[in-house]
Amino acid sequence: MDNGPETRKLEPGLPPCGSTASVRLQAVQARIASAASEAARDPAAVCLLAVSKTFDAAAVRGLAACGQREFGENYVQEALEKQAALRDLPLVWHFIGPIQSNKTRAIAENFSWVHSVDRLKIAERLSAQRPADMPPLQICIEVNVSGEASKSGVVPAELPALAAAVAALPGLRLRGLMAIPAPTADAAAQRAAFRQVRGLFDDLKTRDHALDTLSMGMSGDLEAAILEGATTVRVGTALFGERT
Ligand SMILES: *Cc1c(COP(=O)(O)O)cnc(C)c1O
Repeated sequence: MDNGPETRKLEPGLPPCGSTASVRLQAVQARIASAASEAARDPAAVCLLAVSKTFDAAAVRGLAACGQREFGENYVQEALEKQAALRDLPLVWHFIGPIQSNKTRAIAENFSWVHSVDRLKIAERLSAQRPADMPPLQICIEVNVSGEASKSGVVPAELPALAAAVAALPGLRLRGLMAIPAPTADAAAQRAAFRQVRGLFDDLKTRDHALDTLSMGMSGDLEAAILEGATTVRVGTALFGERT
């Protein structure tokens, strides 16, 4: 008999899936399904990355109890503490924040994915520091499609050269692109920015890169991103609540 989300236990180490986490997760999954359906895409082709920055290990454990596996973090020290507290769970960690040179070793040793590579020097360090007994670090290059509005991300004109150089590094596997367009409530403007990222992604694929990951869309604009081809949406607020 199914006793519902309050009492569902997925595996040892997990508390029951709580009702708030369950309701939020189902609401986000429903948004993804609805946008995918509108785009005539398979909702299973859109990966939900739960962005847990500023929320504690207990909050991550609570969402994991509801079945969520992929988590994104922006700050290295904060992430390492949570990872240590959650070692008993089979979670996949993505680094999505700005990367300082002195943090590349910790990222290379403790994450499966990095979405925010925008300089060759950082990519080279991540590759060199990736432990030989781990699979290659899965990489998305962050592109800046908002011009001066954003400081992070490579400008489109420099993307092909950076992608070629990253693809050649042995410790990394280039999977695709990530973007954080300037926030706007205007759905048409959201879609135009995501469409530009999609165009850059398609262009790279014609240059012999086997890319499969388009990481774009957050709590406020995930529908627009999915309509323009996002394969990973990075959602924080809609899953965990407002950050303080
Ligand atoms: C914080 C953050 C998110 C999540 O943003 P929400 O609006 O809370 O969903 C996604 N991507 C990146 C890179 C972030 O820093």
